[in-house]
Formats: sequence, structure tokens, C-alpha cells
Amino acid sequence: MANSLGQSSSRTTETIRKSEHLWFKDCGLVIRTGNVIFRVSGEILAAKSPVFRDMLQIPQPSDGETIDGCSVVCLPDDPHDTTAFLRALFDSEFFEPYPSETDFNTIYGVLKLSNKYLIDFLRRRALIHLSCRYPTTLEGWTGSTPMSWKIEPDLLIPVINLAREVSALWVLPAVFYALCITTPHHFRALARGVPFRDGLARLTPADLEIFLEGSYAQRECASAMLQFLWHPEHLQGCTTYGRCYVARCAERKYREGLQYQLGYQPLELWGEAEWRQLAPGICLHCVGRMKDMHRQAVRAFWDDLPVKYHLPCWEDLELMKEIAFA
Ligand SMILES: [Zn+2]
Repeated sequence: MANSLGQSSSRTTETIRKSEHLWFKDCGLVIRTGNVIFRVSGEILAAKSPVFRDMLQIPQPSDGETIDGCSVVCLPDDPHDTTAFLRALFDSEFFEPYPSETDFNTIYGVLKLSNKYLIDFLRRRALIHLSCRYPTTLEGWTGSTPMSWKIEPDLLIPVINLAREVSALWVLPAVFYALCITTPHHFRALARGVPFRDGLARLTPADLEIFLEGSYAQRECASAMLQFLWHPEHLQGCTTYGRCYVARCAERKYREGLQYQLGYQPLELWGEAEWRQLAPGICLHCVGRMKDMHRQAVRAFWDDLPVKYHLPCWEDLELMKEIAFA
């Protein structure tokens, strides 16, 4: 448990507590965020961050707050974020590079503050962790990329807000897609916000508008994903097209519910299981053509995904990611 202090040596009467993991007695700088204090090395912070270097060069007033004889620097950041950020900096095993396991709270704090205080290696490390769940290629989405952290529906809005704040736009198409999948859960989340840190996280009005329009467009694509079942009537090269068309239409009727049940996730609407269960009356030639058409529909949906959510095209997003990871 963290220690509690009744008060510091001057000014402060609010109950404050020492950070459990970040109180190094041989270090001379105390950082305070909210009611949590951290005792760390100002010299290491200054060496890693140009923002801290400049901040710590400003002489402290002689009557400034001190704790255990150390001058106190107050920062406006969230104590959870500061804990994650300082631990990542001072405890080398706390936030190891991808694919080591971590969690969203840690990524959030480290990324937000390494971005703010310009600590490039931590920013890059956190961005790589964040991005592993939200690929920029279809192969990445359908493949089995190792995930270093777990997601739950309530975290999607904080992920979007974080990505906006640190300009990690390349994750957004896949995050918006994932948020749309959580229908109808997200109706409540959009209206009320989701619990995060000590308050509620909401989409900005601009992102709410983008999401509502985009998720409607995403839902509308369900029909295009299954179009191979009925269009065109005669697949070129088929010698039994009358029989095949009847079987395809029967399959369409049988699968109609899919469009409604899984319509919010067009990429997952039709997969290996559905191909295996396809009506036996369809000739192999038609099955081959149908697979080609489905592949093309999936590809077209993926290619168009950033545009649905008012984002730059995949090529530009991948370039941004490449620069951020370099
Ligand atoms: Zn056929």
C-alpha cells in the first residue's frame, strides 16, 4: 500500500500519498499530480525529455513547496497516466516492447505523456502496442497478429480519443469498424459516455457525427458482401446455370438472416464455415466464381473503410504509421 502523508512542509493541507512504486529516496525531485507524489530523478527526466529539461531549468522560488527537503513540481496530468509514464521510464521491466504483454491503461498513460513530454522511444513503443490490434491491411485484420493487450467494448471510445490526441490516425478505420460491431451496445455508450479513469469518456461531437454516418454506411455494405449469391444470374462458363441459379437463390433465402444478425460486421459476414455448408446443388465452377466475387467485395469494403470514416486513404495512413514507427 502507498504511504499517506498528512501534509507536506508548506501550503498543502490536502491528504496526499506517496506513489507505491515511484519513491526513490536517493532522488531529489518530487512530482505531484492530483494527490499523488512521486520522488524520481530530475536529471534522468531532463536527459530523456526536452520539455522536462526546460521546465527543470527554471529556478524554484525560495518559498516553494518542499517534501522531505525536495522541491515539488506540480503537473496537471492524471495520476494514473503519470504512474504508468514514470514507471515505463524508471522501471525497465514495466513496459517492455511489443509483443510483451501490457494493458490499455498503461498504453494510454505512457502514450499520452510521452507524446506530451516528447520522449520518442516511449511514444514509439506505446504506438506499436496500440497499433497491434488495429492493422492497416486486410491481411493484418484477417490474419493472426499477436495481440499484446486485451480490449473490451467500453475501451473503444477512449482508444479513439487517444488516437486523435496523439495523431495515430492509422488505427482509426479499424477502431471505428470495431465500435460499429458492438451495436447495439454502443448506442448507450455514445449517449452517456463510458466510464474511464475517474469520469466518463465520450466521442467528440465531430467524431460522433463521423461515426454515425460511417457506421450506417458500414451496415449498408452487408448486402454487397452477399451479392455473389444472386448476381449475376448466369455465371459465365457454367453449363448447368439453371440448376445452379436455383440453388444459389435457395442459399440466399436460407442465409437471409445473416445480413441482419451480422450486418454490422461485413468482413465477418461470410467465412470458411459458410463455404463449407454451401448448398450441394451448385457446380464447382460457380463456387469458384462466387469465391472470387466475395473476395473482391471484401477487398473493396476494406479499401473503402477509411473513406467511410472521413480518414485519409490507406496509403497515406500507412505512411504516417511508418514515420511514427521509424
Ligand atoms: Zn454452375
